[in-house]
Amino acid sequence: MGHPSVDAITQEAREAVAAAQSAAELEQVRVRFLGRQGVLTQLLRSLGTLAPEERPRVGAAANAAKRELEALLDGRLDQALEAERGARRARARLDLTLPGRRPPRGALHPLTRVHDEIVAIFAGLGFSVAEGPEVETDAYNFEALNIPRDHPARDMQDTFYLSESTLLRTHTSPVQIRTMLVQKPPVRIIVPGKVFRRDVADMSHSPMFHQVEGLAVDRAITMGDLKGTLELFAREMFGSKSRTRFRPSFFPFTEPSAEVDVLCFVCQGAGCRLCKQGGWLEILGSGMVHPNVLRNVGYDPEEVTGWAFGMGIERIAILKYGIDDLRLFFDNDLRFLRQFA
Ligand SMILES: [Zn+2]
Repeated sequence: MGHPSVDAITQEAREAVAAAQSAAELEQVRVRFLGRQGVLTQLLRSLGTLAPEERPRVGAAANAAKRELEALLDGRLDQALEAERGARRARARLDLTLPGRRPPRGALHPLTRVHDEIVAIFAGLGFSVAEGPEVETDAYNFEALNIPRDHPARDMQDTFYLSESTLLRTHTSPVQIRTMLVQKPPVRIIVPGKVFRRDVADMSHSPMFHQVEGLAVDRAITMGDLKGTLELFAREMFGSKSRTRFRPSFFPFTEPSAEVDVLCFVCQGAGCRLCKQGGWLEILGSGMVHPNVLRNVGYDPEEVTGWAFGMGIERIAILKYGIDDLRLFFDNDLRFLRQFA
């Protein structure tokens, strides 16, 4: 048996250790009993005030209580720290039952979608994709295509000339020339790509836009083949009920030439804002390849004939999606682009 007060203090300390819930609470218990002002520390410091015959017994009991309490605290402190580390690990662990965080989802640009659609339609008809340089020579961009020296398209006001004989191509048609120069008929190609004109950007103009050129050359190719192909294209692109009409036109590189319209799919021909009350929407220019163009690439116009067309991808996208400002395609405004996701 120890000194009564030592026994009481020891018992109180054991209960306090048992009740502590965390390392922080155990530290409070340690300070309360063993700190500089702690209960046991004070008791040991006051041994000198006891009667001499009591000192050894009380001192031994107090020291024993101190060692017991230190051991108890160390043991519980290890447990508490381990428990707290475990709790932290559990919090940090991946919870597979939580819903995932969605990454922002991208989508194809509307021009890319229309480009891909046009390419797929003509690929289905046996056309292959050809490409050419955006920096062209005057010879391929104009001369070989039967565009004479005095033609307005060759004006400095319309074309980005890089030197007297090189320029940024104003259409994808020079790829016709490049292809025919290295390939014997039959030829069936479509040529998507960027083209450049000296225009100031506004609702309906852009100094850079995209075209798709089409060219078919073979024996006995007729204007009827051209009509059939483009009617099929319009139905695939704008819907099975779409109607087309061919209007006589003029281009230096085709003869005869025709512009192709589709019946306005908003008003069905009655007249509305989209078709500017005309009832029809122009979608492309086309015609039979001019004999001079065939001769320029070494083909014999008595032996083979061909047709060609060219359309603006932006123009098709504007009609298909009802977009009223060309600049929207190039502004990279996500509010616009997200509508096509
Ligand atoms: Zn209309």
